[in-house]
Amino acid sequence: MSRYFAPGNAAEAAELLRTTPGARVVAGGTDLVVAARGGKHPLPEVLVALHRVPELARVRETEAGIILGALTTHTWVERSGLVRSRWSALADAAAMIGSPATRSTGTIGGNLMNASPAMDLGSPLLVLDATVELRRTGGTRALTVAELLAGPGRTTAAPDELLSSVRIPAPVPGTGSAYIRLEHRRAMEIAIVGAAAALRFDSRGEIVAARLALTAAAPVCLRVPAAEAGLLGRRLDAEALAAAGRAAVAAVRPISDVRASADYRRAMTAVVVARALTLAARRAAAGSSVPGPDHPPTATGSVQ
Ligand SMILES: Cc1cc2nc3c(=O)[nH]c(=O)nc-3n(C[C@H](O)[C@H](O)[C@H](O)COP(=O)(O)OP(=O)(O)OC[C@H]3O[C@@H](n4cnc5c(N)ncnc54)[C@H](O)[C@@H]3O)c2cc1C
Repeated sequence: MSRYFAPGNAAEAAELLRTTPGARVVAGGTDLVVAARGGKHPLPEVLVALHRVPELARVRETEAGIILGALTTHTWVERSGLVRSRWSALADAAAMIGSPATRSTGTIGGNLMNASPAMDLGSPLLVLDATVELRRTGGTRALTVAELLAGPGRTTAAPDELLSSVRIPAPVPGTGSAYIRLEHRRAMEIAIVGAAAALRFDSRGEIVAARLALTAAAPVCLRVPAAEAGLLGRRLDAEALAAAGRAAVAAVRPISDVRASADYRRAMTAVVVARALTLAARRAAAGSSVPGPDHPPTATGSVQ
């Protein structure tokens, strides 16, 4: 039988994690509770629920970018006109998660801290240079997303640390970003493999900034520095796309599982990379109005 706490602020939540052996945070519960019900893991002995902590649900836009509280839901991200226009890859990914019910319950903090290699927000946050704030009694620290993710189901956060927020810097004007995933069906499914890209071009149409990251292709979502370096100074033509695909395939370490074989994942990596780079380039040229894979052209979103 689990013990259950619902603290009213983040300091109290952090103190419960510090002082109560076996305590684990529950946010939306769409990973933790669903996995327990499915018999994957028992429920933790002590649950520290965050839903009564308003400061963790706060979204702040600053000149430097945006700070999303850990409890920001996928629905909020998906519908935010601000996120869709400035950090399009993240909005693309949020719109693909699970079902409307999953998206309105699941949180950005839970997606990151669950640390699934197939998490949809990981690669977009990597290409957008996001950092997370971890809070414990007595202090906070900031980590890049790459520093946070340690392996399947593992992060570098200590058991008494709470993920309090995700900070995403303002993109340099002219940057376009996108996230593409391969899936067996549109809803209630996770990625077979996915790719996020962010690109910026100079006035001659040559790439001056490139970021590329992969989902469900290795033990953690990961950037592909060799592909990024190879894109700089060139146009995004067929040869550039093929070279980026080859560099990405060389970087992956996929597994075979119920969704796909490792060989299929490897082959499809080049496909999602080309599609993500192409969509990012179109957005860099034409703006975020270029719809994402799950965004019908007429859909509009607004900051709530
Ligand atoms: C039907 C279904 C479909 C899904 N589809 C997708 C999908 O397409 N793509 C995808 O990426 N995911 C998918 N998921 C997984 C899940 O919905 C997301 O990962 C979601 O973002 C998890 O957030 P949560 O708030 O529900 O996390 P929880 O289940 O509450 O927590 C998950 C883990 O993170 C820890 N945690 C949560 N918040 C914090 C915090 N602030 N600080 C420290 N630790 C914390 C918990 O202790 C737990 O270990 C799906 C789940 C379901 C049930």
